[in-house]
Amino acid sequence: MKIETLAVHAGHSVDPATGAVAPPIYLSTTFERDIEGTYSRGFMYTRNDNPNRDALERGISALEGGAAAAAFASGTGATMSIFQALAPGDHVLAHVDAYYGTSRLLREIFLRWGLQADFVDMSDVMAVKKTLKPNTKLAWAETPSNPLLKIVDLAAVAKIVHDAGALFVCDNTWAPVLQRPFDLGADLIVHSTTKYFGGHCDVLGGIIVAKENSNFFEGIRGIQYEGGAVPSPFDCWLILRGMRTLPWRMRAHSENATKVANFLAQHRRVARVHYPGLPSHPGHTIAAKQMSAFGGMLAFEVKDGGDAAMSVAAKTKIFIRATSLGGVESLIEHRASIEGPGTTSPEGLLRLSIGLENADDLIEDLDHVLSL
Ligand SMILES: *Cc1c(COP(=O)(O)O)cnc(C)c1O
Repeated sequence: MKIETLAVHAGHSVDPATGAVAPPIYLSTTFERDIEGTYSRGFMYTRNDNPNRDALERGISALEGGAAAAAFASGTGATMSIFQALAPGDHVLAHVDAYYGTSRLLREIFLRWGLQADFVDMSDVMAVKKTLKPNTKLAWAETPSNPLLKIVDLAAVAKIVHDAGALFVCDNTWAPVLQRPFDLGADLIVHSTTKYFGGHCDVLGGIIVAKENSNFFEGIRGIQYEGGAVPSPFDCWLILRGMRTLPWRMRAHSENATKVANFLAQHRRVARVHYPGLPSHPGHTIAAKQMSAFGGMLAFEVKDGGDAAMSVAAKTKIFIRATSLGGVESLIEHRASIEGPGTTSPEGLLRLSIGLENADDLIEDLDHVLSL
């Protein structure tokens, strides 16, 4: 099946009891035991498993081409469970440009817990090779990255990481459908389903998809129900509903973002545009090889620095000043001030999550504020 068809049908079945085409939401926390004491219908207690969570996990696993998946209450909860499945003394190699919350988890929680971590620019394959250690158990890539849209050559990095005997994880939050990490060598895929899967800025979630049913994934599964950071049945239902339109939305987000990036790239008040679809982007060649379209996220740097950037974000009419991404509405965000001290974001940088409005209206909005 092609990906659009999978997105519509994976994890779906018509309800045998009623014929309902849209799935019911199973709020029950507990399930009936058989007379013999077994659970032949597969469910016992909703923290362990629930029909809506089961459907979501089967659906996203099928979409990514994995063997199994474990859903969590947030993307960060999913990330945390991967680190918890490691052991004190293990070394993690993470992309320097990984999601801010991911590096904060490593620095503020897991270093204290005994994990070792190094951060390296994974768009530089040789730098990855140099930073791997004998006790490196896991390498964490994210591409395109936040907020500079750096591109990691997933196939090249996967090979080096596997040669060193470590697991390779790809945070695929920014490019679901557009990028197929299992085909490029990833062992695990992570999504913050809060973003494009949910797609409407109204549900929080995370998921880990495993290429194979390994012992390491069994460890994550245990942490899921023993740790209890699980999503509610309604959240699972919303995220799976979001997935039904995901391939078409990703196409439209990408198409709009390409138009906005091209507009910004020729604007006299813009110093730089970070969008992998632009031939001037340093990762363009690799992005063109490993992505079917370039996604809905971009960043640009306003000439004249931080104050000028803040004043652009203050005056847009369609773009909403807010963090996060992946919804139908376009968002604008000044990253340096949200990340605070220690940020690596340039002061003049604004990040855009391009939504599903008409691109002409988005361009007009930006053109207007840039000319003030
Ligand atoms: C948002 C995000 C996360 C964290 O997800 P939450 O659902 O907010 O916990 C992780 N990785 C990336 C790339 C993200 O954009």
